[in-house]
Amino acid sequence: MAASVCPIDSQYTDQISTLLKSPSPHQVKEYFQELIAERKCKGIRVNPEGEHGKGVYADFDFIEGDLILKDQMLVGAQHSSNKIDCLVCSFCFQFIGSVELQIGKKLYLQELGISADNECGPSDRTECSSGSFIDRSPLLQDTIESLMNGSMRLPFSEKFPLPSVVSCPGGCREAYYCSESCAKADWDSFHSLLCTGKGSKSSNIKALLKFIQHANETNDIFILAAKVISFSILRYRKLKVAQCENPEKHDSMNLCTNYGFPLLLEAWKPVSMGYKRRWWDCIALPEDVDSCDEAMFRMQIRDLAFTSLEILKEAMYDKECEPLFSLEIYGHIIGMFELNNLDLVVASPVEDYFLYIDDLPFSEKKEAEKITKPVLDALGDDYSICCQGTAFFPLQSCMNHSCIPNAKAFKREEDRDGQATIIALKPISKGEEITISYIDEDLPYEERRALLEDYGFLCLCPRCSEEGS
Ligand SMILES: [Zn+2]
Ligand SMILES: [Zn+2]
Ligand SMILES: [Zn+2]
Repeated sequence: MAASVCPIDSQYTDQISTLLKSPSPHQVKEYFQELIAERKCKGIRVNPEGEHGKGVYADFDFIEGDLILKDQMLVGAQHSSNKIDCLVCSFCFQFIGSVELQIGKKLYLQELGISADNECGPSDRTECSSGSFIDRSPLLQDTIESLMNGSMRLPFSEKFPLPSVVSCPGGCREAYYCSESCAKADWDSFHSLLCTGKGSKSSNIKALLKFIQHANETNDIFILAAKVISFSILRYRKLKVAQCENPEKHDSMNLCTNYGFPLLLEAWKPVSMGYKRRWWDCIALPEDVDSCDEAMFRMQIRDLAFTSLEILKEAMYDKECEPLFSLEIYGHIIGMFELNNLDLVVASPVEDYFLYIDDLPFSEKKEAEKITKPVLDALGDDYSICCQGTAFFPLQSCMNHSCIPNAKAFKREEDRDGQATIIALKPISKGEEITISYIDEDLPYEERRALLEDYGFLCLCPRCSEEGS
């Protein structure tokens, strides 16, 4: 099959190394200036050549508790395993539907999971029968269904309204949205090539399904990597259309013999600001892997990425964007998520709901609990699991680490979607670097050092300098 043949001609390898070249300080500065203007977060700037390399600096004085920035993700995804617990918009990641739908769907899938467990092997069974299962007392199937279809309302749930569910325009029943605008934005930026529905723009839906299954069985980081590739291809196509409609504006590009490549480079620019190293070079060695087996472990990781990429190629190969389907590029994309390790977290309205019921005056609470208690019992201990995933936040990822940070990522009550929110922990004066902690900074020195080694650096913050000497 043509798609899996890898032409090792020199133009192709040149293109890959051009894509992987670090952007110049000028390009970095320009890119982030534009991004910051777009986000309307005026108080900061990105310095490509700061004290610790690229860093984010304050452009005016912040006081403790100030919002420094809300950072929209470039690309993100909910963990596959988290989809049982939370129904969120596939683009902005806010919870959708209703408190009843969130609960009903979780119970429904939990019940399905239990019957599937009965068929799994003896080794799986110990894992399946978690403590929470024993603690749960299932609801009747009818009740679960009426929670899901809206015919059963829980008391006071109207105080926790959620946007109604919008289906994927491609008809896949996998992606859902909070609004038509999120559905369209996701379709245009990522999903049209990754949709498994009838309207999909993927050239091979069977391969796409295989790719998703492989990712779910091995590492769902591949789904994120596929989103990055899809994003770049779709951006390339948009740039190409713009160029055709407006050729005189792009004269310099037309003069190139291979005019498509400059467009691909431009399409790739947002990603080029984020990657650092290849996944198999930077992934931390798991504790159960002996250091003498390290080379073999890294080889296995590389092979895993290769397998995943081969299936992805079958699903959405585009000749004009060929360099994007190289293992080098794929490895760097995954490495970007590995090294930046940016968690996507959105609090669950289900937790707020039950807390609200718990706080009601005694008589009202007693009345409400007649209905809510069996529901809570059916959900068990993990009733309030938040939406969890991985995302790449362009500005947050420029922030350097410190064990005595002056800022932190923190979701306030009103932050109900997947954006990253950065808050000042102490006064920050104009010109000062804004730092966050990549790890739990309360850990002792040795443990911090070991964790930060996984990020590939030795921390030289004032605290480490003092404690390490
Ligand atoms: Zn949305
Ligand atoms: Zn879809
Ligand atoms: Zn430190």
